[in-house]
Amino acid sequence: MSAAAENSVSTRVDWTRVRRDFPILDRQVHGKPLVYLDSANTSQKPRRVIDAVDAFYREHNANVARAVHQLGEEATGLYEGARDKLAAFLGANHRDEIVLTSGTTMATNLVAYSYLLPRLKSGDAVLVTTMEHHANIVPWQLVCKLTGARLKVAPITESGELIVDKFIEALTPDVKLAGVVHVSNVLGTINPVQALARECRKRGIPLLVDGSQAAPHLPLDVKAIGCDFYCVTGHKMCGPTGTGALWARRELLESMPPFFGGGEMIRTVSFDGSTFADPPRRFEAGTPNTAGFAGLGAAIDYLRGIGMDNIAARERELLDYAVPRMRAVPGLRIIGTAPDKAAVISFLIDGVHSHDLATLLDQEGVAVRSGHHCAHPLMQFYGVPATCRASLAFWNTEAEIDAFVAAIARVRKLLE
Ligand code: PLP
Repeated sequence: MSAAAENSVSTRVDWTRVRRDFPILDRQVHGKPLVYLDSANTSQKPRRVIDAVDAFYREHNANVARAVHQLGEEATGLYEGARDKLAAFLGANHRDEIVLTSGTTMATNLVAYSYLLPRLKSGDAVLVTTMEHHANIVPWQLVCKLTGARLKVAPITESGELIVDKFIEALTPDVKLAGVVHVSNVLGTINPVQALARECRKRGIPLLVDGSQAAPHLPLDVKAIGCDFYCVTGHKMCGPTGTGALWARRELLESMPPFFGGGEMIRTVSFDGSTFADPPRRFEAGTPNTAGFAGLGAAIDYLRGIGMDNIAARERELLDYAVPRMRAVPGLRIIGTAPDKAAVISFLIDGVHSHDLATLLDQEGVAVRSGHHCAHPLMQFYGVPATCRASLAFWNTEAEIDAFVAAIARVRKLLE
């Protein structure tokens, strides 16, 4: 074996064993083996995560930060443990920079209402890009509407790459925040967030990075990126739904007033007024999804156990395997062909509606997503109502990609 082959990701990690960690992958759908190609929508969960949630309710269930009894301490330990693990996973300076949220949507809304709204006035702007998910568009629109500010949009190329010069040009003094997706959930494009952060910093404009699709697939270091806010969602990174986090620079969190009020986020309360806890607790009112965070902690351990470099390399292998085989299907067009791309493949077939295609693929046991992917403006840019999207994860196999491509070819013939 050559040195390069010996060092390849396929030999470093036993991917067949990794795949066995996911019980759901053994099931059949419509009498066919499940081929799950919808990880960008939500990832499947390894046994370790399922067991952690199960163990939480069987052995540790109690409310967090409210009880001195043993179970309360254990539950609090699991919840706060997830914060520690997220801090390490994201390369944060300190655990207090991590606000635990229900996901990215909650994180962007928190920044919109707590950070941006008090700073925004008529005539100001928020800069986003054409390829944003609605979670990185609508919260800004809501606060713009309240203040008379406006949204500015940095354009992309036909291949789905951000036009960086235009983004930089748009960083004018009226821009009070820029929001950019790290990895597009439709195109797979990996944006040069480090370079964008540098430009934003030069101009004193805070940058929020939507890391929903990056955190499950790439090694991350928010300090190296140099952004101001970074959002992740647990259910796409092998963790339970209803979990996620906002990472923010500590001084920014300290400058932000509470967004939700209620229990656990206060220092004192009287009918004359309340004072608030320090961040991050200031932003974590009410009873959280403790079992979910116990699971997210296990998910982070699991991903780090495999190694994010290995995951990124394996998914690149799978992408490079899938793309030429998909292109060989007559009439198939891939939307999003940036060279720096994650394993997310949006596609269309001439004359076939993407919903019909996805429905027929489902009959073959293949799960892909069809729709606008919560990216209406991007669909408008490409002039299509919807796309089909196959999104791969490290547990997928070349054989599954073959089965998927064969199923597309069969469905295409059927619909001809
Ligand atoms: N941003 C991107 C790029 C996404 O793909 C998604 C989920 O599809 C979100 C934001 C929303 O995340 P959440 O499910 O945590 O609200």
